[in-house]
Amino acid sequence: MSDEKPKDNFIRDIINADLAAGKNGGRVHTRFPPEPNGYLHIGHVKSLNINFGLAADYQGLCNLRFDDTNPEKEEIEYVGSIKEDIRWLGYDWQDREYYASDYYEQLYAFAEILIGKGAAFVCDLSADEVTATRGTLTKPGQPSPYRNRSIEENLDLFRRMKAGEFSDGSKSLRAKIDMTDPNLLLRDPVMYRLRRAHHYRRGDTWCLYPTYDWAHGQCDSIEGITHSICSLEFEVHRPLYDWFLDQLGIHHPQQIEFARLYLSHTLLSKRKLLALVKEKIVDGWDDPRMPTVSALRRRGYTPSSLRRFAGLVGVAKVNSIVDLAFLESCVREELNKTAPRAMAVLRPLKVVLTNYPEGRTEELDCVNNPEDPSAGIRRVPFSRVLYIERDDFLENPPKKYFRLSPGHEVRLRYAYFITCTGVVKDPGNGEIMEVHCTYDPATRGGDSPDKRSPKSTLHWVSAEHAAPVEVHLYETLFTKRDPSELEEGEDWKANLNPRSLEIVPGAMAEPSLAAARPGDRFQFERLGYFCVDAPCSRPGAPVFNRTVTLRDSWANIIKSGKENQ
Ligand code: ATP
Ligand code: MG
Repeated sequence: MSDEKPKDNFIRDIINADLAAGKNGGRVHTRFPPEPNGYLHIGHVKSLNINFGLAADYQGLCNLRFDDTNPEKEEIEYVGSIKEDIRWLGYDWQDREYYASDYYEQLYAFAEILIGKGAAFVCDLSADEVTATRGTLTKPGQPSPYRNRSIEENLDLFRRMKAGEFSDGSKSLRAKIDMTDPNLLLRDPVMYRLRRAHHYRRGDTWCLYPTYDWAHGQCDSIEGITHSICSLEFEVHRPLYDWFLDQLGIHHPQQIEFARLYLSHTLLSKRKLLALVKEKIVDGWDDPRMPTVSALRRRGYTPSSLRRFAGLVGVAKVNSIVDLAFLESCVREELNKTAPRAMAVLRPLKVVLTNYPEGRTEELDCVNNPEDPSAGIRRVPFSRVLYIERDDFLENPPKKYFRLSPGHEVRLRYAYFITCTGVVKDPGNGEIMEVHCTYDPATRGGDSPDKRSPKSTLHWVSAEHAAPVEVHLYETLFTKRDPSELEEGEDWKANLNPRSLEIVPGAMAEPSLAAARPGDRFQFERLGYFCVDAPCSRPGAPVFNRTVTLRDSWANIIKSGKENQ
């Protein structure tokens, strides 16, 4: 599934060594294990690309497993969105859709095995007491007073926990490992807690829920996963996962950790993304400013550009921040080859061609995609009154301003050369209402027989034929390069960018764009790549999201060090 030729990396080195040693009978079986407590984001695309990519490269398999051990935070809506996003990205789990919650019975049976071996015990300490007695990096923990309960008593109590005889929080099941281990996670960690919470799949069947640390490794084992790839923060959990698997003597996947993706000017914490949605700071999980897959889809990103990005950022053992400009360059590069060109004027200024016959309309040939001759040409109407961008005209231009100004000649893309002869102003406020120009009939198509070459080429639309459209422009959601790095007492929401969304209501586009359909992508000449928004558009009244600008404006901003201003 990976679009790039696989490059060797430390994960592939481990797999190659395992294959060479004949481990797992030559199988490679990975999994993608989302918790259904939020929408997938660009970080998950990296994980998907690694897991599905490895499976494809080694003729192996990749499972989709929902790691749903936390009933309070999980919802069926998230399961649906996660599946939709993975499919849209082009990864295929075939029929291997699994849920940790389907393994609750098996996990419970495993826990009884550990109790039977004297490797787990029922503890009556409260959650706070467990934490308080865990010790610190320099101080060993204190053993629970319940640590030496007999196997029979533990089994009896554990079964009664499951039967609902005890109140929430009054008991837990803990692994019996070592309260002096330098790794705090091995100091008799909790495996089960009592919690009367409704589970979105299991309903009220269970009042006893496994912790993530107890569930995860066993779920991988049950599915016969060979390489369990997770992010770096789980490195310290690995000895615990190994301990559980070794105690049970079941299939032992190899856990391999890699660095998560961090993206500049972006937060990828699901908790914070959920807060943005809940507090209506953004307009839902798929608000085009969000880093979620559904938002990037609305914004105009393609599955292949996201997969390509995920492949190019590679895998590493050290956390680092990838520049957002890099993600943007991936989609820009693709859309340059595939997006048909069109003309739209965001902030229209009327131009009247005083020597152009009234009532006349010409259909001018415009190239659909200079990068792709097979895309052909389209005909765009031209007439006496046009719109150009307001900022393509200045009455009193500074030196080196080559766009339209009095006495100056410019080229209208695929049309004619025009020269400004004067302006008409609003007598009230002095604002320029229209610009008067003459056109040179000998320059039809945008070429002059005498090889004159104006320094500027402007896009335009014919006023009479123009389609009014709404355009949404975006900046980054956060102003800081690393919005997770906060000063003392600083709230992460303080770095939200107040200009992240600009709605441009009165834009005018060439007529064919009125019929653009949700998901259609275009390059608006000189303005960037745009995609028709699905939720906001109405038939005949498309709303265009700017996917990305034409050039990397961020690169310049970053270079000049102004990004945090
Ligand atoms: P939570 O804090 O809710 O656990 P999470 O970001 O770990 O959030 P999961 O749903 O557990 O979300 O993630 C599914 C998989 O995606 C995991 O294997 C996780 O390691 C991986 N993943 C999550 N975020 C990133 C990221 N930023 N970069 C790479 N992989 C990620
Ligand atoms: Mg997680």
